[in-house]
Amino acid sequence: MNTRKRLFIGLLLLSLLVIIALIFMGWMLALNSHKLLSYILLVIMGTIVLFFLGGIALGLMILIVNLWRAKTTPSMQNLISAAINFLFPLALSIGRAFKIEEEKIKRSFIIVHNELVLNQKLFFKPADILILAPHCLQWSGCPHKITLDVQNCKRCEKCVIDKLHGVCEKYHVNLVVVTGGTFARKFVKEKRPKAVIAIACERDLTSGIQAVHPLPVIGVLNLRPNGPCFNTTVNISRVEEAVCHLLEQHCLKLPCQKPFEINLPHGNLLVRNVEKG
Ligand code: SF4
Repeated sequence: MNTRKRLFIGLLLLSLLVIIALIFMGWMLALNSHKLLSYILLVIMGTIVLFFLGGIALGLMILIVNLWRAKTTPSMQNLISAAINFLFPLALSIGRAFKIEEEKIKRSFIIVHNELVLNQKLFFKPADILILAPHCLQWSGCPHKITLDVQNCKRCEKCVIDKLHGVCEKYHVNLVVVTGGTFARKFVKEKRPKAVIAIACERDLTSGIQAVHPLPVIGVLNLRPNGPCFNTTVNISRVEEAVCHLLEQHCLKLPCQKPFEINLPHGNLLVRNVEKG
C-alpha cells in the first residue's frame, strides 16, 4: 500500500481506536458506581455499541484487505462505505490535530475511493457515463454560457473544455459543466447516469462522492495554476483513462489488437484487450 493510501487508512484506524478507548473509559467509570440498574443498562448499551463498532471494524478490515489484494468484495461494499462515512469526519479532525493538511487527507480519500471503484471492474455503455466538470475550467474571458448547454462552447481551444469535448466525441460519453456541488448533485439525481467521472477540487470531490453514494464515481483532481476556482484545468489523459476504464469492452475500438494500457489515476496499469477498430 503506498504512502498516500496509508495516510487515510491510518487515520481511519486511529479514529476507531479513539472511539473504542472512549467507550472503554465510560464503561469503567460506570462499573465503579455499583448500581444494578446502571450496570444492566450499560451492558445493553455496550452490546449495541460493540455490535455497531464490530461492523465498522469489519468494514475497515475488508477495505484494507481489498486494497491490499486489488480486489473487491461486492457483498461488503455497503459495510465498507458505512465504515468510511462514519470514521471519515473523525479522521479529518484527528488529522487536523496532527497538523496534517486537510487537502492531503481528502486526496488520500479520493485515491482510496477511486481504487475501490476501479477494483469493482464495472463497465458501462457510453450513454450511461457522465463527465461532470466544474465551471472554473472555462476560460474566465469566455462569453459563452456553457453551464446551460455545454454545446454552446465554440471549441476555440482557449481552455480545457475544448479537450473535454474531444474526449466525449471520441468515446460518445456525456459532458456537463456545473457551477457548484449543489447543482452537480441535483443534475446527477435528475439525469441518473450509471457512472460519473467527476473533475473538481479535493473538497468538492470528497463531499460529492459521499453525496451520490452508491453511484460509482472516479474523481479527477483539477489543477489550479491560477489559484482556486479561477481558470483551472485538468490533466486530460487522466480523464480519458477514467473513461476507458469504465467503458464496455466493445466500445474501446482502437486501430490495433494489442492490449490497451491505461494509466489509472492511482498510478497502476490496467490492461484490457480491445477488438480491432
Ligand atoms: S474552449 Fe469553449 S469554453 Fe473554452 S474559451 Fe473557448 S469557447 Fe469558451
